[in-house]
Amino acid sequence: MNGLPPLCWVETDCAALEHNAKVLIRESRRSGRTPRTCVMVKGNAYGHGRVLAARAFVRAGVDWLGVADVFEAIALREAGVEAPLYNVVLTPPEHVAAAVATDLRMVTADVASIAAAGAAARAQGRPARLHLKLETGTHRQGVGEAELLALAARCLDEEGVVLEGIASHYADIEDTTDHAFATAQRTAFDHGVAALRSLLAARDRDPSALIAHTSNSAALLLWPDHGADLVRFGIAAYGLWPSKETFLSAQQLGRRPIALRPSLCWKTRVAQVKDVPVGADVGYGRTFRTLRPTRLGVLPMGYADGYDRGLSSRGQVLVGGRRAPVVGRVAMNLTTVDLTDAGPVQRGDEVVVLGRQGEEAITAESMAAALGTIHYEVTTRIAERLPRIAVETGG
Ligand SMILES: *Cc1c(COP(=O)(O)O)cnc(C)c1O
Repeated sequence: MNGLPPLCWVETDCAALEHNAKVLIRESRRSGRTPRTCVMVKGNAYGHGRVLAARAFVRAGVDWLGVADVFEAIALREAGVEAPLYNVVLTPPEHVAAAVATDLRMVTADVASIAAAGAAARAQGRPARLHLKLETGTHRQGVGEAELLALAARCLDEEGVVLEGIASHYADIEDTTDHAFATAQRTAFDHGVAALRSLLAARDRDPSALIAHTSNSAALLLWPDHGADLVRFGIAAYGLWPSKETFLSAQQLGRRPIALRPSLCWKTRVAQVKDVPVGADVGYGRTFRTLRPTRLGVLPMGYADGYDRGLSSRGQVLVGGRRAPVVGRVAMNLTTVDLTDAGPVQRGDEVVVLGRQGEEAITAESMAAALGTIHYEVTTRIAERLPRIAVETGG
């Protein structure tokens, strides 16, 4: 950023990311097994900054990094990240050659992609590593067991293709304390894995080389001994529980408490302080009118930065360790807050939009509740244009 101080930025606590990843790796090994771990850095590492997060996770000992398309994979490779990469979203055939060139592992569920992977592998003289996606109840990307076995046979016949894994994904594990559906998915997955291992054995391949994986953060926290051969976790690595329900269920199941550390702090600075009289309209649409002589603070941040317009007259920020409410509409690049009760505040003072300041905190969960969404979306939608700064707060 040409040396100029940013108007609005994200500080990511890399020590916290490392801590979380280590805790989760330990959790995945509770049963005495040592599954591989794949931490998700898709969505700009859930808003935390893809490259610094990737580096912190690699330092923590995570084996693979998960992305959602070939563009994210290329960005990591260009930044010098060498760890194995896995694409959780089906790669369209027209991206397959670029994925092979990036050594990006792909999940697949159709013949066209397998053929494209084989062609790219042969042309480039490097393997195309594929994982087949089994449908177990999410009805998005997978195929049923019979079709999966047919695709597996196709992979084995396709020169250059390495059939590396089998995957599925839980549909309903975070939003509930009733895990009957997730348990049924797990059973269907285990069945599919066994069928695929038999097919591999029948074709003189080593069935134990196959990497089976379906656990996400919630599954790891609830069923730590069910990580199969690889565990894919995202939200928990960023220090956030997948949901209140997962937290409760883990307690009900008697899981050891584990300490996750939130790792993101979104900041800006007061751009302007002004005193206005009673009856002053604030912002577009005049949706807020002062009821008392009011000290307003103008923040150089708005929905272009990912600060949701739904926080108009609902959100809060922290200034000088105290809460200041958003007043009026959030605009594209400006947000106004009420500083009347915030103590002495000056232009240039640091503002915490999300995260901790002194004794106070604005959590991703509370912002999500105000917006009627989930904390995953809150952090992921912080605009990519904001600089991500690595910090180590320790503790
Ligand atoms: C994002 C994602 C995960 C991680 O989910 P969390 O709830 O963040 O742990 C795991 N698997 C797949 C396929 C995903 O897309």
